[in-house]
Amino acid sequence: MKTSSALKSSTLRLLLATQNKGKLRELEAVLGDLGVELVSLAEFDDLPDAIEDGVTFEENARKKALHYWHLTKVPTIADDSGLVVDALSGRPGVLSARYAPDDRARIDRLLLELKNLDSTETHRLRTARFVCAICVILSEGSLIEVVGEVSGSITTEPPGGGGFGYDPVFFYPPAGKTFAEMEASQKNAVSHRGNALTKLRRRMRELAGPDTAG
Ligand code: IMP
Repeated sequence: MKTSSALKSSTLRLLLATQNKGKLRELEAVLGDLGVELVSLAEFDDLPDAIEDGVTFEENARKKALHYWHLTKVPTIADDSGLVVDALSGRPGVLSARYAPDDRARIDRLLLELKNLDSTETHRLRTARFVCAICVILSEGSLIEVVGEVSGSITTEPPGGGGFGYDPVFFYPPAGKTFAEMEASQKNAVSHRGNALTKLRRRMRELAGPDTAG
């Protein structure tokens, strides 16, 4: 894919394809000094939701970004993320958010599915990874795509702690803790989203040229 001269201009307005305010703040912190001004979906009236029917995270991130870019013609950034569990042949994967109605139910379902499998010799491994795909559409035919991952394993029961989603059952061996037990900054430094954002920042700096802030 070709890249764009949009990044050479002093400020790049980038529409963030999510209603999640946390993601807006996180992106602002990572890209703000590169002259990127983030625009929220809330600034547009009645935009229909994107249909996330891709079979990979990359496909869904690209579908979402293209969807809002076509509707607004504003350069757009979108992401898709989720949990890939080896013993479940990659599930919940792209269906991580839709696996059950809420975080607690999603965790319960995951642990139950793994418990049932654990009774067989071949499914003792509980290895898993979080994946985050990010797609930026700069202009027609010009896009940046990056993917970040982090490997760990699924605990047998949810310990206490903060975090969201599957954090309470995602054990990260280098820290000896689950993501829910780690400080947010500690998690962000190693997480799938953190890794993807680091790659994105690097790509955007390269495109913006040598004078951009470090
Ligand atoms: P989305 O990318 O916002 O659609 O998130 C997909 C789903 O993956 C979320 O609903 C969470 O359940 C899960 N997920 C993604 N990233 C994380 C994470 O860092 N911790 C825990 N769960 C996550």
